[in-house]
Amino acid sequence: MTDLIATHLTPDELDDWLAGSLARNREAHLHGCADCRRLADADRALAHLLGTLPLFSPAAGFGDRVMARVEVRRRARPMAVAAALAAGLLLPMAASVGWSLANPDTLAQLLQGAGSGISGFGVATVRSLGSTLLAQPWYPWVRGLFESPARLGLVFGATTVAYAGGVLVLRRLMALPMPRVAHVQG
Ligand SMILES: [Zn+2]
Repeated sequence: MTDLIATHLTPDELDDWLAGSLARNREAHLHGCADCRRLADADRALAHLLGTLPLFSPAAGFGDRVMARVEVRRRARPMAVAAALAAGLLLPMAASVGWSLANPDTLAQLLQGAGSGISGFGVATVRSLGSTLLAQPWYPWVRGLFESPARLGLVFGATTVAYAGGVLVLRRLMALPMPRVAHVQG
């Protein structure tokens, strides 16, 4: 009993004292011990200060509103990505096909100009690269493409269809249900 009276108050006992439920013998120690008295007074001042602070309580439905915004962003993103892909890749491709079909002569001149530029450039490696290119079995076929706008259009058209199919598959994959995110209780 004397031991208990002699030892200083624990934080739990200080809480008890603030709540007015401290045991009699411990209260006796508090009265007789300057250290515990100081601690208890500081504790009471802090509790009073905390009590004067305004409580932050978010408005009703705060959590639901936040999660609704998260949901909207999550749903809007795949569509935005698909639209950006289409605008960034499909449109220039279509413009290029359109220009090639409308200006076959200019295209042929450009290709010829590039060819004469290479032969006029007296670097052996570039020339051997050029002859290697000319020796390729697929070269006449590729060259034929640029000589016939219809065939060129066909190849570009097939590429565009294949690309559009890829975009559609991508969008389908993105539209698949995803595992739901954690839900905040409002
Ligand atoms: Zn004490």
